[in-house]
Amino acid sequence: TLSDRLSASFKRLRGKGVLTEHDVDETVSDIRRALLDADVALPVVRSFTKQVREKAYGAARSEALNPGQQVVKIVNDELIEILGGAERELNFATKGPTVMMLAGLQGAGKTTLAGKLGQWLRTEHDKRVLLVAADLQRPNAVTQLQVVGERAGVDVWAPEPGNGIGDPVEVARTGRDHAITNGYGVVIVDTAGRLGVDTEMMEQARAIREAIDPHEVLFVLDAMVGQDAVQTSVAFRDGVGFTGVVLSKLDGDARGGAALSVRGVTGAPVLFASTGEGLGDFERFHPDRMASRILDMGDILTLIETAEKAYTEDEAKDLQSKLAQGKFTLEDFLTQLNQIRKMGSMKKLLGMLPGAGQMREALDNFDESQITRIEAIVHSMTPAERADPSILNGSRRARIARGSGTTVQEINSLVKRFEDARRMMQSMSRNGGALPSMGGGG
Ligand code: GDP
Ligand code: MG
Repeated sequence: TLSDRLSASFKRLRGKGVLTEHDVDETVSDIRRALLDADVALPVVRSFTKQVREKAYGAARSEALNPGQQVVKIVNDELIEILGGAERELNFATKGPTVMMLAGLQGAGKTTLAGKLGQWLRTEHDKRVLLVAADLQRPNAVTQLQVVGERAGVDVWAPEPGNGIGDPVEVARTGRDHAITNGYGVVIVDTAGRLGVDTEMMEQARAIREAIDPHEVLFVLDAMVGQDAVQTSVAFRDGVGFTGVVLSKLDGDARGGAALSVRGVTGAPVLFASTGEGLGDFERFHPDRMASRILDMGDILTLIETAEKAYTEDEAKDLQSKLAQGKFTLEDFLTQLNQIRKMGSMKKLLGMLPGAGQMREALDNFDESQITRIEAIVHSMTPAERADPSILNGSRRARIARGSGTTVQEINSLVKRFEDARRMMQSMSRNGGALPSMGGGG
């Protein structure tokens, strides 16, 4: 992934007392390649690397300490800049309902977003919201919006005999008019998408836009689309036009190539991030959080340095091969916990792990005394259970809870976190990510 590539590149800088222009050039060309591989558009990559190079030269000339971290900081700051810097508020109408239209490919997450936005506007902005079902393409699109609207606690305007049935433009127009006459605060028009960009869809969306004259047209982009993000964004910009972007499916593996491109290529701000299928999985888009997500490496350099002090070369090699082969067990986990304790605060160390950005909330709530409980849990397991937690059925979990003086919930959450961590570390090792050479300097 993009973050793996960047962290590999930054890792090479570590240990260097000073940064030469040659080091900068090498790193910048790594960054360039990593961005291109992550499907960031070429013009965006060009301006990005140009900025980074100039600033990193500056850092090199100043002979600053810790060049690797300097470069990480420069890259981070530039990412925030290119992702849009400060956030923008939605445009609300000064008189009558605020009219919003959703556009995007089929499956991008428009209908889901209609519900999320509806609920958010209702609860956070105290608005009366009407959703309008102008997607008449898919057989159950109207029903889907009705279900979503009900869940969100907002009204839905759907085609019925006499209100424009069969014609999306008419449904959109009559829906908006209904919102005006009935004093709604916001009307959100859901539209149809296709699997690929096509002229008929664009013409229909444009006709809807012209018919309802919206205050905001939100282009919904699936963050997982990769390479196609640029082409799709440009097609919608030219075909329909939009005032803001919503990135959906940011809960997946997507690392942000799409976010960088769409903002960089169209200049339209990313306003919201959609992070799951539930109505609450929705938030304002924060460029700084996205930047750390793209880098997703926490303070990996410090972590590596700390780890190098605590591990011998053999221990590190052993750990590395276990991680890579997915043979890392709870028994090993227990050993690691003890090693980590030697290094200092668990919270601080966890905060340095790649992926920590997404676990921020968990970290804030992390309680050092939990380690003791975790140890108690693992101690109460049989060797077979430690080697293979998948055999932990309900009665085993209940026995362990009793034995360790904890609860089944705690055991469930430990097992889940362990499995997640193992998966993450395995893929990191496989990609030549951050952990493999931990013993290198020790
Ligand atoms: P539309 O065709 O653009 O209206 O897309 P839908 O709203 O019907 O969403 C398509 C699929 O993506 C559905 O299964 C949604 O549950 C799912 N989906 C939408 N937004 C998200 C998101 O942010 N994260 C995840 N994981 N799934 C999403
Ligand atoms: Mg839909």
